[in-house]
Amino acid sequence: MKLDVERARAETPGTDHVIHLNNAGAALPPRPVLDAVISHLELEARIGGYEAAAQASAKIERTYDAIASLINCGRDEVAIVENATVGWDMAFYSLPFGPGDRIVTAMSEYSSNFIPYLQVAKRTGAVIEVVPNDAHGQLDVAALANMVRPDPAGRTVKLISITHIPTNGGLVNPAAAVGRIARAHGIPYLLDACQTVGQMPVDVQEIGCDMLSATGRKFLRAPRGTGFLHVRKSLLERLEPPMLDNHAATWVSADRYELRPDARRFENWESNVAAQIGLGVAVDYALGWGLDAIWERVAELAESLRRRIAALPGHTIRDLGEVRCGIVTFTAPRPAAEIKRDLAARGINVSVTAAPSTRLDMDARGLTEMVRASVHYYNTEEEIGRLVEALAGRD
Ligand SMILES: *Cc1c(COP(=O)(O)O)cnc(C)c1O
Repeated sequence: MKLDVERARAETPGTDHVIHLNNAGAALPPRPVLDAVISHLELEARIGGYEAAAQASAKIERTYDAIASLINCGRDEVAIVENATVGWDMAFYSLPFGPGDRIVTAMSEYSSNFIPYLQVAKRTGAVIEVVPNDAHGQLDVAALANMVRPDPAGRTVKLISITHIPTNGGLVNPAAAVGRIARAHGIPYLLDACQTVGQMPVDVQEIGCDMLSATGRKFLRAPRGTGFLHVRKSLLERLEPPMLDNHAATWVSADRYELRPDARRFENWESNVAAQIGLGVAVDYALGWGLDAIWERVAELAESLRRRIAALPGHTIRDLGEVRCGIVTFTAPRPAAEIKRDLAARGINVSVTAAPSTRLDMDARGLTEMVRASVHYYNTEEEIGRLVEALAGRD
């Protein structure tokens, strides 16, 4: 069934004010999310923060169930954290690495993941290996299948860690094919799904990942400062988070603590309760539209945008991959920052993606920066037309 765009826009106050094509940065929240956050803040102000949390406990717990439905996992396999990076770090830094341990990643890897690989490699002597791209510009599955065998020195792969959809383009990496390889070899698999959740269906059983990190504010349309981490039960029981507090663990006797049995061992005590409730409402809101319907609309709008930008003289679409998502990147004869500024003056939001965010990919392609226009299901062909006219200097 086609998504009711008119209703989506009526429920999104921001669409009255801007042409928002920075959904990969932070999407516009829908009215129910906004209402949920504000009403909880008001409750806190009225009766006290702890008392408000106690009263709203069902709503807070609902967020775990909503996320579990969204990605098809158990509610005890979900940690709610303040952003995707914290979730990802908690998972990654829980894994033990030693000299020669191989960490396998891909060309499109995100800065905030690659920097930790470099740090852990420096500290422990682990080595980072990068799967090359295939002819489509996505992770080469056949190359990965070769790499996961022990190398000539007998060193094994301790982790496969990749980004599903990079921050800098339409590429959708073949995450499930990677999962089949990880499973077959019993290698832990960490997936950065920050740009994925909310724009397309994500099923961790189908993908076969053991850990998945995501953020709230991007395609999920949740408040800023929210994110979550999924860790598969069989793995989580063996992982000790790098930092603990009295929420992740209990101080049971003078010289001993016990970790929580569930994924909340990756959380800590204090959090923005209003935002957590808002995250749950945003997930339920996305589920209400249906991720298949959202994905169909997003993919269609993005392809239309690519066709129209590609037809502009001097503009080059830079998106890689066999499957392309709602993130559209391009270069033009003018600096990206100048384009962004000119569009902003016309009430059109886009962003600039620069080499340090995805260094391996950008360096390999000789790119220093691109304009990123990311669509969501509440955007329209008319808005896309306005962007294209502005780029062409015809408005
Ligand atoms: C935005 C982004 C992140 C970081 O998410 P935060 O919520 O800001 O921590 C991680 N990975 C990718 C691919 C991203 O685009």
